[in-house]
Formats: sequence, structure tokens, C-alpha cells
Amino acid sequence: MTHSNNKFCVPCRCWVSSTSWEDHCKKHLELLKEERGNFCGFGRRLGLTIAPALCPFCLGSNKPPSVRYKQSVIRSEYRYHMLRHDKDNLFGKKPELGVVLEFYEPQSCPHPLCSHSISSPEEYRTHFRESHGICFRNA
Ligand SMILES: [Zn+2]
Ligand SMILES: [Zn+2]
Ligand SMILES: [Zn+2]
Repeated sequence: MTHSNNKFCVPCRCWVSSTSWEDHCKKHLELLKEERGNFCGFGRRLGLTIAPALCPFCLGSNKPPSVRYKQSVIRSEYRYHMLRHDKDNLFGKKPELGVVLEFYEPQSCPHPLCSHSISSPEEYRTHFRESHGICFRNA
């Protein structure tokens, strides 16, 4: 028997058929506050991943539930994902035409349960680390 069409849900520790995967993810999103709170990083015990990492940008997007509740279990992939957002992010944009931007338009944190206002790239990383348990560097 193969699970190729099924998805594995890490927090539930079970396989979910691909047809009910969207609904399954939707349920987790509805319970986000109870299940995860603000924490998006990896939850680990004895070296085993017991909670997948989530992405605050995707969580706060209006994409399908399976994209919003994308479970990351591989650190390098997660970091790459976050860095790609970083690039798309307003703060990640390189100053154009040699103009150095010293002031940034404050943005509110993309996480759906968080309303923190972020006003610089440094603050954004610090906030993600301290409030959402996300590390951008090699751990
Ligand atoms: Zn689940
Ligand atoms: Zn994302
Ligand atoms: Zn936040």
C-alpha cells in the first residue's frame, strides 16, 4: 500500500487523504490559537520533530488552507522559504538608484494572531525570532 496520494499531518501523526487535506488544514487554521498560539517555529522533543514550522506570511495570506497551513519539517527548506518571503517583503527590497532608505513604512506583522507593528528589517527579524520562534540563521 502506498501513501503517495495521501498527506501526512505531523501534529496529528496521521495520514490524510488528499481529497480531505484542504478541510483538514482549514480545521488546524481555525484552531491555530489553541494549538499553536503565536509560535511558528519547530517544536522538538528528543530530536524528533513534534510540531512542524509554519510561515507567518503564508498563514496571513488569503491562499488555500493547505498553503496557509504548510507544514515544514526540514529546517533548510523552511529557511529558504522564509528568505524568499524576505526578498518579496518590502523590507527586503534593495534601495533603488542608489537611494538609501533610512525610514520604512511600518508594517503590521503578517501573522493572523499578531498585530505587532514592525518598522525596520532588523525589528522584523527580531520580532519573528522573539514572538514567533523563527530563526533565519543556521541553528
Ligand atoms: Zn492534522
Ligand atoms: Zn510562506
Ligand atoms: Zn507577529
